[in-house]
Amino acid sequence: MSLIERFQTVYELVKAGLTIDQREEVLKFREEVLQTQEENQNLRQEVAELKKALEIKEKLSHDGSVYWLGEGEKREGPFCQRCKDVDEKLVHLQRTRELLWFCLECKSTYVPPGYEPPEIDNDLLDSRGF
Ligand SMILES: [Zn+2]
Repeated sequence: MSLIERFQTVYELVKAGLTIDQREEVLKFREEVLQTQEENQNLRQEVAELKKALEIKEKLSHDGSVYWLGEGEKREGPFCQRCKDVDEKLVHLQRTRELLWFCLECKSTYVPPGYEPPEIDNDLLDSRGF
C-alpha cells in the first residue's frame, strides 16, 4: 500500500468527526504528500542517471585521439572526442573508404593509430582517364 493509499484510508476513518477547517488542512497535507512523492521519484531518477554517467565515465578511456568504452574483448568504440568533450555524447565513429574514422554527428575525421593510406591502383586510375 502506497503512502497516499494509507493516507486515504486514515482520512476515510476520521473525516466524519472533522470540522470543515480540519478537512481542508488534511487535504492540504495530502497535496504536500503527493508533491513529496513526485519530488522523491524525480530525485531517484536523477540518482539513477548520475550513477549511469559515473559508470560510463569510469569505463571510458582516451587514447590521445578518440574515446573507448571498456577494455579487452568487451571494448567498444571508437567514440568521437569532439562530441564527448563538447556535448557529453558518445557517438560511434564510422570507417571511411580511406580507412579513417568519421563522426556522422559533427563531421570530425580521426586518423587511427598506425594508419597507412590505402594503396592507389594506378592501372584503375589510368583506365578511368586520370
Ligand atoms: Zn562527433
